[in-house]
Amino acid sequence: MRPLLSFQYENEHNGLKKALLPKKIYYQPQKNKKNIKNQNHVNGLKKIIIAIDAGHGGQDPGAIGYQGLQEKKITIKIALQLNKILKKNKIFRTILIRNNDSYLSMKKRKNIINKNYADFLISIHADSSQIKRISGISIWMVSDERMRREIQNYLDQNKDIICFSENIKKIFQKNKYDIYLKKTILDLQFNNFRKMEIDISRRMLQQFKKITNLHKAHPNYASLGILSNINIPSVLIETGFITNVVDEKKLQTKNYRNKIANCIYLALNNYFQKTVKLK
Ligand SMILES: [Zn+2]
Repeated sequence: MRPLLSFQYENEHNGLKKALLPKKIYYQPQKNKKNIKNQNHVNGLKKIIIAIDAGHGGQDPGAIGYQGLQEKKITIKIALQLNKILKKNKIFRTILIRNNDSYLSMKKRKNIINKNYADFLISIHADSSQIKRISGISIWMVSDERMRREIQNYLDQNKDIICFSENIKKIFQKNKYDIYLKKTILDLQFNNFRKMEIDISRRMLQQFKKITNLHKAHPNYASLGILSNINIPSVLIETGFITNVVDEKKLQTKNYRNKIANCIYLALNNYFQKTVKLK
């Protein structure tokens, strides 16, 4: 569900074939074309593909709490739970960027997101601070400045990005050297992505505040690499401060982690149910 144009991903499976990582780490492509169509469609409508990025992993533990809790262990558990809930709803298909304790570079993560034509990316993290009393959840989006830079880099290199929607890909191929047209389309698309990110973030914050305190009451902006794909709207959730005794204890409980996953799910479902009407 991308806001700018009517998106039809006729060649979704081509992206899957070219994916870079071992099969076990993410969505396994099916050989049968009919199966692919069934997986990606429900009642003739394309499913919403949510990429779930569990932060850190492998040799990168992320932040470490005072009681020794590692961020990577929290992020994967919330990601797996979110995946489980989303899969129960037929309008969604999920891409787990990692489903075990493996290390993935930023480049690999971004490749998986792109090659699977994700419609929305949720990156899950836990925060840390030298000030122990700081606690609560926050949501982050890529800064305007970073996104402008990413768009400009793309235009300067004049490279084809295979994972644009079919409609945008066609326009870009026909107008390869028309930088202004391409920039206009990318800027418009980014504006629409931003509206979508803000809308979904607000819905998430509404849910989160029912279960815990918010570190920041509004979505925030930063130059974050994982959120810098020019063709995919994305948000990063800091699920609590691992350096805060209370948050660390909460993050260690299955009950709290499941509540966080559920809040994310409810926000996504509310947003996409509004835009996708199933027969
Ligand atoms: Zn992190």
